[in-house]
Amino acid sequence: MGLLRGARERWIRTGGIELCVAETGDPQRPTVVLVHGYPDSKEVWSEVALRLADRFHVVLYDVRGHGRSTAPVPLRGGFTLEKLTDDFLAVADAVSPDRPVHLVGHDWGSVQGWEFATVRRTEGRIASFTSVSGPSLDHFGHWIKERVGRPTPRRVGQLLGQGARSWYVYLLHTPVLPELAWRGPLGRRWPDLLRRVEKVSVEGYPTGSLPSDAAHGAWLYRDNVRSRMRRPRPDAHAHVPVQLITPTGDAFLSERLYDDLPRWAPRLVRRTLPAKHWVPRTRPDQLSAWIAEFVTAHEGEGAGVPPAVVSGRRYADRFGGQLVLVTGAASGIGRATALAFAEVGARVVAVDRDAEGAARTAERALRLGAPGAWPEAVDVSDEQAMEKLAARVAAAHGTVDVLVNNAGIGLSGSFFDTTADDWRKVLDVNLWGVIHGCRVFGRQMVERGQGGHIVNTASAAAFQPTRLLPAYGTSKAAVLMLSESLRAELAGRGVGVTAVCPGFVNTGITSTARFTGVSQAEEGRLRERTARRYALRNYPPEKVAAAILRAVVENRAMVPVTPEARVAHLLSRVAPGALRAVARVSPPL
Ligand code: NAD
Repeated sequence: MGLLRGARERWIRTGGIELCVAETGDPQRPTVVLVHGYPDSKEVWSEVALRLADRFHVVLYDVRGHGRSTAPVPLRGGFTLEKLTDDFLAVADAVSPDRPVHLVGHDWGSVQGWEFATVRRTEGRIASFTSVSGPSLDHFGHWIKERVGRPTPRRVGQLLGQGARSWYVYLLHTPVLPELAWRGPLGRRWPDLLRRVEKVSVEGYPTGSLPSDAAHGAWLYRDNVRSRMRRPRPDAHAHVPVQLITPTGDAFLSERLYDDLPRWAPRLVRRTLPAKHWVPRTRPDQLSAWIAEFVTAHEGEGAGVPPAVVSGRRYADRFGGQLVLVTGAASGIGRATALAFAEVGARVVAVDRDAEGAARTAERALRLGAPGAWPEAVDVSDEQAMEKLAARVAAAHGTVDVLVNNAGIGLSGSFFDTTADDWRKVLDVNLWGVIHGCRVFGRQMVERGQGGHIVNTASAAAFQPTRLLPAYGTSKAAVLMLSESLRAELAGRGVGVTAVCPGFVNTGITSTARFTGVSQAEEGRLRERTARRYALRNYPPEKVAAAILRAVVENRAMVPVTPEARVAHLLSRVAPGALRAVARVSPPL
């Protein structure tokens, strides 16, 4: 059956309608029912179904009037949430008569899902509900009423924000026009719009039934929205655990809509995805991973949802379950970053040329709640080793979601005291290490086509010249430019790139940095002195790690971290002459 490879199809009769139902996977496994939205048919879920089928009994059906299901006659009054609940129960009884099903809905599939999860007659038939980009109309109704009833400036802003996103809802309430548009020019142009605006791959999707799906589906809005907005049900409390997945770039739904949700769904887990509306098409890996994790947790199997996600810890909604690879993870900023991601429930690959240090970080990450953590002893400047690492990680754990190219070494000394060998060493690690990381893991992100993020650790030395750090500063300026250029190249692919520029951070870098042009004894003295000064400044690497997580969430291009880095960055833009003057100063030895 085309898109849903290996699926078995059958028709289920209910209330004069024939529902087309597709099943895949082992019927003995827990049943996951995927409900599609508007204007879609069950094929919107094909990529997710494919990924879930090896572990679950996956069921999809065309909502009445969509795909290959028949439409009610007359259409008006045939799409009420009550009738849609009848359909769902008929499907659930047919595909899983003895056990409750795990429900997943996208867009209108999720709007329906909220109805199913909050009405009494489905109690005992649903084990969990994953909601993607579709609110409960009742919750929405209360959300509006409360804001209209007690309008503070912030609440009016929220109302206007969502009002502007709902333009299509008003349009769909006009008679006949939507039907004419969908069966005419809009229906023809829709695949191209999805591709260009939503970045949806349109290979084999949407299906040929799109114009009639969209025309019939207009009745979903007309039969339900106005009545529920006027009289939202006061008792729309979920009787099942709910996982809410919110794409942050959704053009149709404001994230604020879900502010009041814990009141309606006390057993709530939140997930956030940097993506647009059609996540079943654009983020099937992440979506199926989160669905699988939630389902197995409520079947009493699997490792369960990371505790940080369940407790709602900051950023756990965004990184919980993601795969994060950090280089230079044995010490300092890299270690703190790997542990910060572990604390919010990410799976962590800790890479360092110091094997023991990497192992210690991975162990600690597990103790902090990472669902998985693996050490990797690799020299980032070794191209072949990095290629092998990328292949190993992809085979064992999948595509990296967040890559932090952080490994780096220090080098201080005048230009003429810096030998060609010194230059090579610092550029090999600080620049080539980053280039290799971006090439091997960035390519995997792009090829997967489901987004990701790259963080490169540069330095304030990238924009603050100094006679003390010609080679180090050059390597970091190159990392900054590489990051900016790559960011431009990957912008259209959903992969963000950030350059992080710390100032003086209290780490081990001072005790390993090389000082050129001095005797060994003098080098030792300089290391000690620098370490003392950094310790006195005492800016902890944990703060840099926190800035890195925030930068990924906010998709920032460049982040100067410490106050001195921020001042230097500002001066580099408004008064570069002042920075040039500082660059000439040679500190007292
Ligand atoms: P650190 O010395 O504490 O940690 C660096 C880690 O990188 C070490 O564990 C080291 O073993 C590892 N490493 C070095 N070369 C490697 C290689 N070739 N392959 C794999 N691993 C390698 O230093 P840190 O201060 O945490 O530095 C992290 C990054 O932050 C570096 O890129 C550094 O240039 C940058 N930075 C540091 C400061 C600071 O003040 N500490 C300021 C600005 C930028």
